[in-house]
Amino acid sequence: MSKCTGQINGRRISERIEELASISEPSDGVTRISFTKEFQAGQELVKKWMIESGMTVRIDNLNNMIGRYEGLNPIAPVLIIGSHLDTVIDGGRYDGVLGVISAIEIVTVLYENATRLEHPIEVIAFSDEEGVRFHTTFLGSKAVAGTFSEAMLELKDDAGISLAGVLQELGLQPHHYQTAAKRPKDVLGYLELHIEQGPTLETEALPCGIVSGIAGASRYSFKITGFAGHAGTVPVPLRQDALLGASELILEIERLTKQNAPIVATVGKLKVMPGACNVIPGEVVGTLDIRDTDTHRKNDVISSIFNAADEICERRNLTFHAELMLESAPTPCDDSIKAAIESAILANGIKPISLVSGAGHDAMEMANITKIGIIFVRCKKGISHNPEEFTSDKDMEIGAKVLLDTVIQLTVHDMN
Ligand SMILES: [Zn+2]
Repeated sequence: MSKCTGQINGRRISERIEELASISEPSDGVTRISFTKEFQAGQELVKKWMIESGMTVRIDNLNNMIGRYEGLNPIAPVLIIGSHLDTVIDGGRYDGVLGVISAIEIVTVLYENATRLEHPIEVIAFSDEEGVRFHTTFLGSKAVAGTFSEAMLELKDDAGISLAGVLQELGLQPHHYQTAAKRPKDVLGYLELHIEQGPTLETEALPCGIVSGIAGASRYSFKITGFAGHAGTVPVPLRQDALLGASELILEIERLTKQNAPIVATVGKLKVMPGACNVIPGEVVGTLDIRDTDTHRKNDVISSIFNAADEICERRNLTFHAELMLESAPTPCDDSIKAAIESAILANGIKPISLVSGAGHDAMEMANITKIGIIFVRCKKGISHNPEEFTSDKDMEIGAKVLLDTVIQLTVHDMN
């Protein structure tokens, strides 16, 4: 197949971003929660764009919208490109949406140039990634990846309405959720373009980058116990101040993570008890969230943190206890897809760099059935889930060009 000569239209991408952003519940940013009337209105608009780009459109029983652009070989495995249309409350206009609109853009270019690739392309606008409504993420991509389960249909939103009820209301057949699942042999791979949601590309002055993988996470709750006492009468050397122990530990966590970059760890929550200005803290309860694509390194750092905690607490006459709350495995991106993205980036005259995704994406679920690749696009100051989320028209255009070149390579070369 000759290389497509069509032009990615950055202006069209940004106009579509704006149009979709205007479909929101009243809020400072964009609020388009899954399965609401705003979500459905946004989906209608995306459907129109898909049809205009020569795609046939269907909606599966979990309310994912799938646009299909036939290939030269209609029975060849499909290349899926997707992201999500739902937002958080008062979120930004690019998170998720940019991936869907960029995917439609590249199909538009192929269609305008009367170009068919060997493999069919399916653009999926997932229905629920953020998990705001039912407090569980990736409901849409779970259905496509075959990891959705019957029990999830009984999840309730804050108004007490079940997911099954919500889907029925939309005219769907939730109990036939299995029909949304793809068989691995029918899928060539999965690509997702997403805003970075971190500051690395901006710091490196680069418009886009290759994601090496999605970090695995371990989340612990910990408790440091000392002894509460009078803030005025107990001499400092005799104190068992739980907060001082926690403070020393938190600084040690910072030192260990700096030493083991790109691992990240965060103590995001601390409760100091009894919590009075005139009482020495007797107990501190906190959380530790630690993420890395390298599970060995993550486990090593976790044991170093716990050893440090024991040492600090022994020295300060405190006790330390930690409990694992959540553990998720890392999701590596596929080497052949990463290589295709890298050469697409190089072909656009950009220095290719690898980035770890610290946030989860629909690609994580899709990795259960196929090879995945993710392209990150620079966003201002790394801000996301916020009305100030911003990506420039130029960066969106470059991102879509890289996506198109990646798709062309993947559908020409045999990935196996
Ligand atoms: Zn997202």
